[in-house]
Amino acid sequence: MENEKTKLTYRQAWKMNLRAWKIWWKLCPGVFFSTLASSIMKAITPYVTIFFSAQIINELAGNRRPEELTKWVILTLSCAAGCALLQGIFSRWANYEKASADRLDSQIYMKKMLSLDYVDVDRQAVFDLYSQIKQNANWAGWGIHRTLSFFEDLVTAVVQILGGIGLSMSLFLLNVPQDSSLAFINHPLIAVGIVGFMLLISVVAPLCSNQIYRYWIAYAPESRLANRFFGFYATLSANRSLAPDVRMYEQEEKVCEPYLDRNNAYMPGSTIAKNAKGPMGLWAALSQCVTAILTGVVYAFVCLKAWAGAFGVGSVTQYVGAITQLFRGLSNLLTTMGEMQGNGQFLQDGFQFLDIPNRMYQGSLTTEKRSDRNYEVEFRDVSFRYPDTDQWVLRHVSIKFRVGSRLAVVGMNGSGKTTFIKLLCRLYDPTEGEILLNGIDIRKYRYDDYIRIFSVVFQDFKLLALPLGENVAGSSEYDRERVKKCLEDAGFAERLQSFPKGLDTYLYKDLKEDGVDISGGEAQKIAIARALYKDAPFIILDEPTAALDPIAEAEIYSRFNDIVTDKTAIYISHRLSSCKFCDEIAVFDEGKIAQMGTHDKLVADTNGKYYELWNAQAQYYTNI
Ligand code: ADP
Repeated sequence: MENEKTKLTYRQAWKMNLRAWKIWWKLCPGVFFSTLASSIMKAITPYVTIFFSAQIINELAGNRRPEELTKWVILTLSCAAGCALLQGIFSRWANYEKASADRLDSQIYMKKMLSLDYVDVDRQAVFDLYSQIKQNANWAGWGIHRTLSFFEDLVTAVVQILGGIGLSMSLFLLNVPQDSSLAFINHPLIAVGIVGFMLLISVVAPLCSNQIYRYWIAYAPESRLANRFFGFYATLSANRSLAPDVRMYEQEEKVCEPYLDRNNAYMPGSTIAKNAKGPMGLWAALSQCVTAILTGVVYAFVCLKAWAGAFGVGSVTQYVGAITQLFRGLSNLLTTMGEMQGNGQFLQDGFQFLDIPNRMYQGSLTTEKRSDRNYEVEFRDVSFRYPDTDQWVLRHVSIKFRVGSRLAVVGMNGSGKTTFIKLLCRLYDPTEGEILLNGIDIRKYRYDDYIRIFSVVFQDFKLLALPLGENVAGSSEYDRERVKKCLEDAGFAERLQSFPKGLDTYLYKDLKEDGVDISGGEAQKIAIARALYKDAPFIILDEPTAALDPIAEAEIYSRFNDIVTDKTAIYISHRLSSCKFCDEIAVFDEGKIAQMGTHDKLVADTNGKYYELWNAQAQYYTNI
């Protein structure tokens, strides 16, 4: 997947931000209302203080009327208190909404991940893109989530600007008396010059500080890599399942030292630390210098006008405060726009992921619920290559499953057995040929409906760190008696007795301290019980007994017919002796079905692959 970083224009970045805001608007509109209210209050509050203090000072420096002073003091206090109260309420509301948004943030990607075609989930490029998005967010908060703070910053900046203009307008309208030696200040060109200078500085200061972001953005790949190392090495030491290997093979130095060696990303001496001391520091200093120059010019202009008699001394505080806030608003606006442009590159990653299309054809037919379980599946001349590879993994496979029969699939490692099952479950579509369900191409069925007819225990199945009963039922609400029966059928009854909270016992200790650790064999039995609980017409077991001890294995086989009942069973195994009870055996060899037949028929063919495999295993049991 191409993931080339190109610098975006403001327009492109703005469009991406709009798209991100639309996503947030759908997910939690409250965050916009609350942020709007809290940002407006945050921006207005300083102006309230600035305005009222100016009135008090003007009165003190002028007529000094006690009743006027009392009025202004009461107004100042009550308005300041009112603003503080409203600001407190709105910012609490905004914090609550932001916390909800934080929670929803991961859902944006999780939902997409779960809705992707399996073929894309399995692709390295998609996985890399997904990790990149997460790392962008982890190291500096870049990505879709960041756009929420842009909204806050923009609203604050706009209100700051409007408030500043409102309170400083009269600075340019009030004239110095004509007989003053400073009357030339009244000339409109002076006002235009001062405003022009302010605007220039307002642009220059953010431009300087935006240079700093360039360094952070350029640092993104290095930082992501550091985060990746951190994620890998820093969690190795806490990984319980790795602990025995780490100790036995003395891998301690592989756990800690590479982390320390390769994770210099944020320490003294790292590229970003050097830049912070050098150019980034200089840009920050320059930005501050420019700001200080502006403040000086504003003070000079306002004080000169006051000195020459254009307004009272109290208005000096008002004008200086208002212009400083106005300048801050302009500066924030431009800085935010610069950040939005920088973040655009990271939004590109996010949208590239969210825009991955579902290419698998989605049919509309339903697989009618048949009580007779009369579902017949046929592979018709199916060939398959994994995406982005040239090698044929399956070649011209044709096979029909007889309803209610037990089919064993055997073959060497890599001969295509698991791939065959993945195609049957429509995790992938065939590259050539077709798979039919009751005579109709499986692509024409609704996908969710189609997969409901299969219960599968994959070779590398996974259980969740949730209560046992929920694992078996795949749901938090379930039929307890049926779950118990399935566990019993899978040979787990005795172990269930020892579980402190029965079906409510948590598996593993990830979520509960009193969770129970289970062995590989026990996990396999639970996975088989889960497949039985689904009670689908097809049951597929990929190496179902690999982790079971011989007694548990024998127990499962002896009850296999009772367990499977009238379902069609497909059974992949390395142990050929365990396939004997199947009605038919398909022998896979280099992606082709080399032989088909019963055990007796296949073993009689001394030139066949089955005979070769059978003898290779049998010698371990007979040549003792
Ligand atoms: P078996 O189950 O018989 O051991 P598999 O079906 O797992 O065989 O694998 C058949 C071939 O397909 C192997 O060569 C394997 O390397 C390749 N293969 C399996 N999964 C993938 C994948 N996701 N991408 C590319 N090649 C794969």
